[in-house]
Amino acid sequence: MKKLIAGNWKMNGNLAANEALLRDIAAGLPAQPACAVAVCVPAPYMAQFKAMVAAVPVLSGIDLGAQDVSSQQSGAFTGEVSAAMLKEFGCRYAIVGHSERRHYHGETDAVVADKAKAALAAGITPIVCVGETLAEREAGQTGEVVKRQLAAVIHTNGHCISEIVLAYEPVWAIGTGKTATPEEAQAVHAVLRTQLKAATDQVARVKILYGGSMNASNAASLLAQADIDGGLIGGASLKAPDFLKIIAAANA
Ligand code: PEP
Repeated sequence: MKKLIAGNWKMNGNLAANEALLRDIAAGLPAQPACAVAVCVPAPYMAQFKAMVAAVPVLSGIDLGAQDVSSQQSGAFTGEVSAAMLKEFGCRYAIVGHSERRHYHGETDAVVADKAKAALAAGITPIVCVGETLAEREAGQTGEVVKRQLAAVIHTNGHCISEIVLAYEPVWAIGTGKTATPEEAQAVHAVLRTQLKAATDQVARVKILYGGSMNASNAASLLAQADIDGGLIGGASLKAPDFLKIIAAANA
């Protein structure tokens, strides 16, 4: 399966910094990357991304993603951005259920499942994040937690589950510099793959990304695991040389 390397810029950047970052990525991007590449930018910068693709054609090899999407279609939902709006700006992906949204915004498994449904209905691929906290890992609950989070998305989306991208992001590894070992990550990915297999006969279509302090030095060993189909990259996606090295590791 073609791997996917997706950057999550989170709430970082400004017009000048984004332009410099995208130009530096474009300069180092292989002419024909063997993996798919995406950047999930803050919503106000989607127009800038579109304009830059027109100015720097090699950037058309990078897909645009959002970091969140509303579960609602339209109406009195102040501050929300609908999937149809994202689609108008050429978004291919929308992250849903990132642990920062679950933690700071109280997003439940059911809300995350509804967001995935709204994205799919608009033709956007949700990148559905699941992952356990450190306390849950230490209590031996990792499998149970990620299975519960994925089960909600399967329940709400039925056979469309084969259209999602799944991202295993252990909460204790996000932005902390602590990474799951390749073996730890692979074990959870295998659990998720088995759960998907029971839900769809199209499991071969579903990429399962790893996220959590993936960087230029650890990417190759994580991406070499049988069930790791790419990466969701936070901090390292803001540094062009690091992001390019991760892309190179996925191409190897
Ligand atoms: C993320 O935000 O999804 C993430 C994995 O962040 P980081 O790579 O910085 O840990």
